[in-house]
Amino acid sequence: MAQLAPYPFGALARRMFRELDRREAIFDLPARKFVLGDARRDVSVRFHGHVAATPFGPAAGPNTQLAQNIVLSWLAGGRIVELKTVQVKDDLVIPRPCIDMQTVGYNVEWSQELTLEQSLEEYVKAALLIRMLVASGRLPFAPGFDRTVFDMSVGYDLAGIRSERVQAFLAGMADATPLINRLRREIPSELSHLRDVDLPARISNTLTLSTFHGCPPDEIERIVDFLLRERQLSCVVKLNPTLLGRDAMRTLLHDRLGYTDLRVPDAAFDKDTKWEQAVDFVGRLGDTAASLGLGLGVKFTNTLIVENHRSVFPASEPVMYLSGTPLHVLAMNLVHRFRSTFGDRYPISFSAGIERANFPDAVALGLVPVTMCSDLLKPGGYSRGFGCFEELARRMDAVGAATVDDFIRRAYGAGGPTDISAAKLRNTEQYVERATADPRYGAERNLRVPRKIGKRLELFDCVSCDKCVAVCPNDANFAIALPRSQPRQFINFADFCNDCGNCDVFCPEDGGPYLLKPRVFVNRARWAADAPRDAILIEADAVTGRFGGVEYRGDQQSPYAEILNQLRDALLAPSEVNYVSASF
Ligand code: SF4
Ligand code: SF4
Repeated sequence: MAQLAPYPFGALARRMFRELDRREAIFDLPARKFVLGDARRDVSVRFHGHVAATPFGPAAGPNTQLAQNIVLSWLAGGRIVELKTVQVKDDLVIPRPCIDMQTVGYNVEWSQELTLEQSLEEYVKAALLIRMLVASGRLPFAPGFDRTVFDMSVGYDLAGIRSERVQAFLAGMADATPLINRLRREIPSELSHLRDVDLPARISNTLTLSTFHGCPPDEIERIVDFLLRERQLSCVVKLNPTLLGRDAMRTLLHDRLGYTDLRVPDAAFDKDTKWEQAVDFVGRLGDTAASLGLGLGVKFTNTLIVENHRSVFPASEPVMYLSGTPLHVLAMNLVHRFRSTFGDRYPISFSAGIERANFPDAVALGLVPVTMCSDLLKPGGYSRGFGCFEELARRMDAVGAATVDDFIRRAYGAGGPTDISAAKLRNTEQYVERATADPRYGAERNLRVPRKIGKRLELFDCVSCDKCVAVCPNDANFAIALPRSQPRQFINFADFCNDCGNCDVFCPEDGGPYLLKPRVFVNRARWAADAPRDAILIEADAVTGRFGGVEYRGDQQSPYAEILNQLRDALLAPSEVNYVSASF
C-alpha cells in the first residue's frame, strides 16, 4: 500500500516515555546518541531573529515527514527543523522505491505524502512531544539547548500556495490553538502532569520555499513577495544547482569530480533561473523583506536533476534527483559565487552532502541552518547527528572557540579577520577551494555499493545486523525477542513504511526487509486495503495473518498458527516497547 498513516498522539507519547524508561532510547535511537548540548560550548545561532540552540537541522524530506521523524531529528541535535514541503496536490502517487542511497544519493520522492491537514497535525504533534520531553526533566540538556525553530516549507507555485487549503495550513501553523488543545486531551493519564506544558500557539513564522525544477524566476519572486507581504513570513528561497550554468557544472561534475556518468538534461539549464535573474530577484525581495521588518535568505541547494541512468527506480522515470557528496561541491561553489556578489548581506541556509567531516566547515562558513538529509539515511541513521556534534566540538576545542562566532574567526587559523562577515568570506574562499580539490567528494571514492552476502531474507531469521532499524527514516523497522532460533527478530510496522526502499539498500541479505519481514498492522481497514501483500494484523483479542493471499487466524489450526500467536505474545509482552504494544 505504501501509504503512511500517522500514529495517534497519545500512543506516540506513551511509547516515547515508556521506551525512555525501559530501554533508554526513544523511537529506537539510543539515549547515548542524543545530542544534549555542552555548557562549555555555545553553538547557538540566529535565524530570522530567532535563537536556535544549534545551526544543525534535518532538511525538508524523509526525516521530517511524520511526528516521530521530527522528534528523532531533534534528538539528533536539529534545532532548526525544516518541515517536509507541503503543497496543494497532496495525493501524490510516488514511484517505489523512491530513495537510492547505494552510492551518492538519488531520489524520486518530493513533497509530503500526508494530506495538508495530516501534515499540520504531525508538525504540531512533534512540537508538543518535544515540549513534553523537555518539561519532563528526563534528559540533562545544557541550559538553553531546547531552543528550536520550526521552519515551514511550501511548494510549488503561487496558485497552489494561494489555495484555500494551503492557506489553512499556514493559518494553522500561525495559530495552532485548537489543535494543541485537542492533542493535550489525548495525552494518556500516566503523563497527565505534562498536559499543560508550555507550547506557543504559533508553531512557525519562517518558511523555506521549494519550487519545481524549471520554475520561472518571476514565479519564484511572486511567491516570495506574496509570502512576505500577505503572510508576514520571513523566507528562504531554495535555489537550484543549475544556477552554476552549463559550463561550470560540466567542469565541476565531470572534469573535477569525475562523475562522467551523470547527465543533466539540457532543458534544466534552459528553464531554470539564471544567475543574473537570481541576483536581481534576491536584491528586490531583500528590499521588500527589510521594509516589512522580515528576513530573507537563500538556500544552496535544491537537488540536481539528472537523467535516470541507474536501475533502482522504474524505467518510467526519465529523471531523478541527485543529493549527497557531489552536490556538496556544487552547492559550496554557489555559496562562494553568491558571497562574491552579495558579501554577507543575506543569510545562507545550506543542504548538500553534509556529514560528520564537513559539518564543522559549514558552521565555520557561517551557514545557518546546516541541514542534512542523505547522510541521515546511511547506517546509524539519526545517530549520525551525534557524530557531527562530536566533530564540531573537537574542531572548536582545537582552536579554543567557545561560540560559533569564535569558531568562524578561528577555524581556519589565527590572525584572520576579527570582523565576522570578513571571516565568513575568507573561510568560504578557503574551504570551497579545498573541498573542490578533495578526493573524498570525487567519483572514485563514492561509487562503491553496500555489500550483500548472497543470502535471501526469510520471514523470520536473518543475520540480525540491525541496520534496517536505524536507516529507516520513519522508524518503521524494529527488533523484538522471539523464542526461535535467532534471539532477535525484525518487524516492519506497516503504517510507517512507504516502501522507500532504503532498508533494502543497506540490508546485507537480498529481498528487502520491508518486503520480506513480517509487516504488522494494528488497524483492520488498513490491513485489508493492503491486500494481497503478506501482512499480519494484531488486534486486542486476535491475530490474523495473510500469506500468499490466504488468511489464517491465530485461533484456528494452520501452519502459521503457532508463529502468529508467538508473534502477538512477543509484541504485546508487558516488558516490550513498540508501536504495537503502545496501541492497546
Ligand atoms: S521500512 Fe524500509 S522501505 Fe519502509 S520506510 Fe523504512 S526504510 Fe523505507
Ligand atoms: S533484515 Fe537485513 S538489515 Fe535487518 S537485521 Fe536482518 S539482515 Fe540486518
